Amino acid sequence: MVDYFSKEIHASVAMGKRIRQLFSYADASGRNIPDYMEKLRNEGKLPCRDKREGKAALDRLCELLQYDPEDVRKEHLPKNEDAFVGIGQNSGMQLYIEEDIRDNADVKRITERLNFPETIYIRHYKDILARVSSEGSTESTGKGMVLARKTGRLLYEGAPVCQNFGNSHFYYTSCVMNCLYDCEYCYLKGMYPADVPVVFINLDDIFKEVESLLESFPVYLCVSYDTDLMALEDIAGYVRRWCDFTKSHDDLTIEIRTKCARTDLWKDIEWCDRVIFAYTLSPDDIIKRYEKCTPDLEHRISAIVSGMESYASAVNDGSEAYPFRLCFDPMIYVKDWREMYHDMWERVMNEIDLMHIRDYSVGSFRISDSYLKNMRVRFSGSALVQYPYDVVDGYYQYPEKIANEMECYMEKLISESVPGAKVFRWK
Ligand code: SF4
Repeated sequence: MVDYFSKEIHASVAMGKRIRQLFSYADASGRNIPDYMEKLRNEGKLPCRDKREGKAALDRLCELLQYDPEDVRKEHLPKNEDAFVGIGQNSGMQLYIEEDIRDNADVKRITERLNFPETIYIRHYKDILARVSSEGSTESTGKGMVLARKTGRLLYEGAPVCQNFGNSHFYYTSCVMNCLYDCEYCYLKGMYPADVPVVFINLDDIFKEVESLLESFPVYLCVSYDTDLMALEDIAGYVRRWCDFTKSHDDLTIEIRTKCARTDLWKDIEWCDRVIFAYTLSPDDIIKRYEKCTPDLEHRISAIVSGMESYASAVNDGSEAYPFRLCFDPMIYVKDWREMYHDMWERVMNEIDLMHIRDYSVGSFRISDSYLKNMRVRFSGSALVQYPYDVVDGYYQYPEKIANEMECYMEKLISESVPGAKVFRWK
């Protein structure tokens, strides 16, 4: 079919590459390409006399596919009942530890807590990622966990695809690499060769680097980008340590982004209005289809409500904004997206005291081109990964019309319900 269509539109090599990508998406999303060919013929775009007409036909095919998103409600995926608790005692995973840190106190603390059936000492964590990658697995859990020491740069300036929420000195750090959850759109799948979580045990070194930055200016730091730290708290205990550290450094504000629905942390963390718990919320159909192993919307909302109650009773300073952020990001373009995000917002609005929400983040899915290219090789069957995104300045994103429509819609829902709400949109 690719060859036939290429010939019919007088495709160049570059056009041929694009055709293959479009057909991969059609395949992954269950589209019937002959139906689209028929449509092009009816519109007079086929047959083509030359490459110029062929290019127009190809652009039109792309457009037809872009605006015909997946119907995720057709999917009936089983719900993961255990997802919301994060993980505690492991079940049969292998633990890999870098040889140089085998006697480290934090390593001992973690290993005693987890009681892994088998511990293997390794030279470097990258060896394990390379090995798992070469085995060709695409599963994110069950392969084990690595304890390692992070070397080189420990803090990074915020990437253009991330929101800075109005902060001038925006950084992120990666004290854990990879996630226990398995979101189909997660950039980590394109960033690292394998999905095994790597916990870096030298958090104190990261703290020192933050302190050195703080000597020059106030810092806004995202500490849970390359993982979900809340889900890993039983293993690493880093949420508590970041809360303590931030509380004792006045010029530091951190964001802990999460989909985890645990509530046990609230009773014993050191509350601080500069530790922002940022919850990613999605409609349940999106969660079931694309955010595998994560808690459902109901549990995420309950965790926020419980956290806000706990904050109010612990701090009781009359402040209006609590350190809770709601993130509708990434929004995923699917059939009936409007209805889904509307229903989700109704639930959020009915259950969460929005007058005390600090701010909101809204953004449609986008990803750097190099990560998506890697993901397209690994996940040929994923319609979300194979979707024909537009590429702008090195980032894949939905066509501007779609992105704008979705983000404006969400922003409007928020602004109409919460006058004066601070809504940050990625741009
Ligand atoms: S929760 Fe976040 S870090 Fe974890 S897999 Fe999903 S998108 Fe990636």
